[in-house]
Amino acid sequence: MRKCNKCSSRKPDWMFKFYKGKHKLTCRSCEYRWWRRLLKFMVRERKLTPLERMSSRVGYMGTGFLIAGQWTLEPVLFIIGFCCVIIQVSVRRQWNLVILQLNGLTAWTIHFFNSL
Ligand SMILES: [Zn+2]
Repeated sequence: MRKCNKCSSRKPDWMFKFYKGKHKLTCRSCEYRWWRRLLKFMVRERKLTPLERMSSRVGYMGTGFLIAGQWTLEPVLFIIGFCCVIIQVSVRRQWNLVILQLNGLTAWTIHFFNSL
């Protein structure tokens, strides 16, 4: 039996987490945080596959091109940027963003051919 330092009630040893070779001073029911529990429940830990990691890097490169394009209004930069970002969002299956990038790509391609 131990005494909790928060609720100061006596509880059996298993109610205190064993941490770094000794039992904690606060009991499990006092340490319980429903918000932490909810966040852990909602976020599933997931490793990225090599393809996803590669496409993520290409996506960052595309973002760089898009940023450069927005400052220079150069259609070629936009076209390269949209192509790179499309790779990332289609690997991630974010189809709304694929539609968005395709729209930008066609618009800037048309703009590019009109300016020739
Ligand atoms: Zn307690």
